[in-house]
Amino acid sequence: MSNEKLTPRSENYSEWYNQIIQRAEMADYAPVRGCMVVRPYGWALWENIQQSLDRMFKATGHVNAAFPLFIPMSFLEKEKEHVEGFSPELAVVTIGGGEKLEEPLVVRPTSETIIGYMYSKWIKSYRDLPLLINQWANVVRWEMRTRLFLRTLEFYWQEGHTAHATEKEAKEETLRMLDIYTRFAIEEAAVPVIPGRKSASEKFAGAVHSYSIEAMMGDTKALQAGTSHLLGQNFAKAFNIQYLDEENTLQYCWTTSWGVSTRFIGAIIMTHGDDQGLIMPPRLAPIQVVIVPIYKNDEERSKVMPVVEKIKTQLQNFRVKVDERTEVTPGFKFNDWEMRGVPLRLEVGPKDVEKGSVMAARRDIPGREGKSFLSQDDLETSVANLLSAIHTSLYEKAKAFRDSHIFDPKDYEELKTVVQEKGWALSWWCGDPACEAKVKEETKATTRCIPMEQPGGHGNCIVCGKEASEKVYFAKAY
Ligand SMILES: [Zn+2]
Repeated sequence: MSNEKLTPRSENYSEWYNQIIQRAEMADYAPVRGCMVVRPYGWALWENIQQSLDRMFKATGHVNAAFPLFIPMSFLEKEKEHVEGFSPELAVVTIGGGEKLEEPLVVRPTSETIIGYMYSKWIKSYRDLPLLINQWANVVRWEMRTRLFLRTLEFYWQEGHTAHATEKEAKEETLRMLDIYTRFAIEEAAVPVIPGRKSASEKFAGAVHSYSIEAMMGDTKALQAGTSHLLGQNFAKAFNIQYLDEENTLQYCWTTSWGVSTRFIGAIIMTHGDDQGLIMPPRLAPIQVVIVPIYKNDEERSKVMPVVEKIKTQLQNFRVKVDERTEVTPGFKFNDWEMRGVPLRLEVGPKDVEKGSVMAARRDIPGREGKSFLSQDDLETSVANLLSAIHTSLYEKAKAFRDSHIFDPKDYEELKTVVQEKGWALSWWCGDPACEAKVKEETKATTRCIPMEQPGGHGNCIVCGKEASEKVYFAKAY
């Protein structure tokens, strides 16, 4: 709890980000370097993200299960690219119960291998397919440079793992999940994202194709907010995931995996937050409406509080908090809830009691402009409308910001200026990893995704000038 002002974003974006997390009590640093403690307010947001995604997974035929945290080291070594990609980040257990283990155990960095092993036992015939399982879990990746929510040694996520009879079905699944992530980001979190395909050098270790949703943060850097991987038959062959088809012939399955993590909380903070603090998207906000009673003495209090109670009951279908603290002033409370990003604040004072009204203040529009009087009658409808309007305006604002920071540089020199000083570049790229590597080396910007929406036709690669048939986003990224 603090009313201290944040470092403005324009002054030091990363300091602003760290302060907001601490002061809104979203997370804290753990005693182990690079680990985080997700505090109740941050976890409440994660729970809402979980519920929302989980509904979408189940509506598309997926079920949840839980797989072990420990994976035999030899499992990871079965898929060559996979082990190469993950080796530098593995946490490995070599001692258990005081004894040296015969085989070291990896703390899961992701579960393709252990789930692949189980799928090879469970899948026998085409009748067992498709197998559509998701798990909500924590994973460990030994990252060197860490940031709360964005990159931590341990983080929380969901990982979907599916097996299919045909490549076509696996492809459809990969794109279906990419679409679910896109819809979730836009419709629930008000985060505009661009779905697209990752370049070969940016794809998941062991995948044939990786797809992602990319979001622009308030400092114009990109953030990969969800991924969906077409694994082809790579893991099926490494783990012998086979089935008998209708002609009784043994075939390898086609598999996919897809995930969204607590990183998404970082995306929400950096998409919507301002210099006053967080702004929670209404549909995911742990607290959607905070009611602040205003009174000067006991007499006023006795008039105001029954109305506050009545309003709270009226709004029982929303996540509502009544701030009854007596040790701080209303002004302090306003700042405090603004820091925590509660989308809508209702103030109830003696005059409101007389007039049958409440004062509503929108978090997304500061000052007088965001305030309006609502009638106490039919408050459910007016609150629902306001929350919906806040969702739309957050989305539109973020999208307008993003679109005004995407450029179409005319040559390589301009591309360098764009990605170093202005935002993202959407440019023709020939697909050669050497061109991508050159941009990365000279500017630190990477290819973010080859967007699903393409202009069509051909152009010249922004780096080498050779003919190119696809455009790609170049940007610095988290
Ligand atoms: Zn090129």
